[in-house]
Amino acid sequence: MGGGPPPARIESGCGCMCCGNLYTCCGSSVPVEEVDVVLIGAGSMSITVGLMLAQLNKNNKRYKIKCFERLDAVAKESTNGWNNAGTGHAALCEPNYTPFADSSEQSVNISKAVTVNENFQLSRQYWAHLVKEGLINDPNTFINVTPHITFGVGDQLDWAQKRYDALKDHALFEGIEHTTDHKKNEGVVPAYVQRATCG
Ligand SMILES: Cc1cc2nc3c(=O)[nH]c(=O)nc-3n(C[C@H](O)[C@H](O)[C@H](O)COP(=O)(O)OP(=O)(O)OC[C@H]3O[C@@H](n4cnc5c(N)ncnc54)[C@H](O)[C@@H]3O)c2cc1C
Repeated sequence: MGGGPPPARIESGCGCMCCGNLYTCCGSSVPVEEVDVVLIGAGSMSITVGLMLAQLNKNNKRYKIKCFERLDAVAKESTNGWNNAGTGHAALCEPNYTPFADSSEQSVNISKAVTVNENFQLSRQYWAHLVKEGLINDPNTFINVTPHITFGVGDQLDWAQKRYDALKDHALFEGIEHTTDHKKNEGVVPAYVQRATCG
């Protein structure tokens, strides 16, 4: 790591890892492996950071990276496709990224949505780089463009209109549409409209 910090040492935080004693040690010499980076957990975060680090210093000494996962396979927790919503978090539809600007509720603050979308574009650039490098074969196996919808009812309608007004002229949200036309909405999300009109 050049002039960077000394490599981390893997050892028990307290007590002995061999015999399990908290304050004493059984005397056995636990092998200590010297590494540059320790990643705890093999979810998308650790693996992405690990891959980024592995790609640095390509031509010089590579970082020695160890990843520890407590389960029997990678990506079994939040990263597993069945344990999250599977959207790209680009702030296209998530209401929490566009709250009212203040208590007067006259306008919506889009700063968080813009930051989140920008970050998502950076992720896309990184994935495109991985495709170019041959590290991802077919991006369509994990990322596909799909329309997003934010559906509002009752007093959310005013907020939805203001959200649209605030986002529509921003380049990152180009093409955003807003409608209160039931017929049009029925064609897109029939179950939502049926539920909303039935109360
Ligand atoms: C219900 C839900 C919906 C979501 N929807 C979306 C979405 O639509 N879009 C989106 O972008 N994000 C979404 N997310 C968030 C996204 O899933 C997470 O941000 C992401 O998966 C987190 O990755 P991670 O690697 O930090 O965590 P994880 O994937 O949970 O990985 C952590 C790993 O660490 C392991 N571990 C924990 N402790 C230890 C230990 N002591 N030693 C060894 N291993 C350990 C765990 O077993 C696990 O494998 C959603 C999350 C949830 C819960």
